Amino acid sequence: MAWDFETEPEFQQKLDWADEFVREEVEPLDLVWGHEQFVPLDETRRKVVDPLKQEVRRQDLWATHLGPELGGQGYGQLKLALLNEILGRSQWAPIVFGCQAPDTGNAEIIAHYGTPEQKERYLQPLLDGEMFSCYSMTEPHAGADPTMFKTRAVKDGDEWVINGWKYFSSNAKTASFLIVMAVTNPDVSPYQGMSMFLVPTDTPGVDLVRNVGLWGEPLNQGSHALIHYDDVRVPEDALLGGEGQAFAIAQTRLGGGRIHHAMRTIGLAQKALDMMCERALSRETQGSLLADKQFVQGYIADSYAQLVQFRLFVLYTAWEIDRYNDYKRVRKDIATAKVVMPTVLHDIAWRAMQVHGALGTTNEMPFFGMVHAAGVMGLADGPTEVHKLTVARQVLRDYKPSDDVWPTEWIPKKLEAARARFAEYLEHEVGNL
Ligand SMILES: Cc1cc2nc3c(=O)[nH]c(=O)nc-3n(C[C@H](O)[C@H](O)[C@H](O)COP(=O)(O)OP(=O)(O)OC[C@H]3O[C@@H](n4cnc5c(N)ncnc54)[C@H](O)[C@@H]3O)c2cc1C
Repeated sequence: MAWDFETEPEFQQKLDWADEFVREEVEPLDLVWGHEQFVPLDETRRKVVDPLKQEVRRQDLWATHLGPELGGQGYGQLKLALLNEILGRSQWAPIVFGCQAPDTGNAEIIAHYGTPEQKERYLQPLLDGEMFSCYSMTEPHAGADPTMFKTRAVKDGDEWVINGWKYFSSNAKTASFLIVMAVTNPDVSPYQGMSMFLVPTDTPGVDLVRNVGLWGEPLNQGSHALIHYDDVRVPEDALLGGEGQAFAIAQTRLGGGRIHHAMRTIGLAQKALDMMCERALSRETQGSLLADKQFVQGYIADSYAQLVQFRLFVLYTAWEIDRYNDYKRVRKDIATAKVVMPTVLHDIAWRAMQVHGALGTTNEMPFFGMVHAAGVMGLADGPTEVHKLTVARQVLRDYKPSDDVWPTEWIPKKLEAARARFAEYLEHEVGNL
């Protein structure tokens, strides 16, 4: 019997260590340097962050998403899921453990499709945690439908010239390079006519027009750039993978990225549930603890039920990825996790906020940030609706239409067949009456 829900004791020890380390050593960074985890380290921060990274390396937990050939431990996705749910509590933890999005996905595609020169220039510093990267795909007029992208790359001698606009290019302002998706052949289907390019951010013509912020951030000081690529010239060898391979590359990248987000979301939702329970046991009103009120008990039970279902499903999906080593084969379940993730986080964070009363809505508690994060998760890496289409299509593949005007499970027809099958006994029963 191979179904097993236990963690090996040696790895559990590592998880226990990570749990305490994140709570004690890393979460304080969220409070002092909040949203600045993607800013390259200056000398002061290096003194604090480098020893933490060193400690993670000593514990063999650095960049656990990577195989040993790339400096990781080759633990696989299931172990990564168990670790990521711990890291999901903190904004800084993925940086300290060398597995932060979007760099993980970007590293993965360079490892997969890059030439030896591209790997040396971009991959190694990325894996060492010494460089940030940006994935520049969405455009102002189109996001969910990449076939509508217009940014163009045209060959000119031994160079490519890129022109167009990109939107929501996260971390562009601190990234050393951008991975840009552009149309290279408008005469064929977009699935064959788009390519990926590795573009250093300081290339002339890369214009970060606005640094769009999320809700609550000051205008134009956010991390999601509107970029004008204005006659950006890159050499021939800036092409990542083959010409026309952008869609295949994007799928490789986004499959991993989506499930990693889901893993971290477990941790964030668990944090909200922990806070809800603590408050329920601490606050009294109208003669009893909140924990004794049926509505609040309902919040706790519903939250636990949602979280545990989501967690088991994400762990199962991670196990499938390890087993098949093929994101495409696990596409239905990755998309399902992506669909469920925003609702789970939203619902639990919202209830936790409600249970905290007025305090829950303030900037002295993290709930509104979590609810906002849930909204973001319903869009980043593709909107929920589009993932639902993928899920439905994949589910439908396992079915075929009824070969009759009536459904296969139409009771009169099944009853007739059952009666015919047992006719001899039924006649006997009638005869006995
Ligand atoms: C925080 C954050 C970070 C991001 N980082 C990056 C990044 O680093 N790089 C990058 O390239 N992009 C990034 N994105 C962009 C993200 O990939 C897009 O927002 C997403 O693909 C949706 O595109 P859109 O915003 O243009 O929405 P649209 O394509 O305009 O869709 C809007 C809405 O229309 C509905 N809709 C769309 N298609 C369908 C459909 N087929 N059926 C039913 N309803 C539909 C949905 O409700 C959808 O939310 C990021 C987004 C966020 C929020």
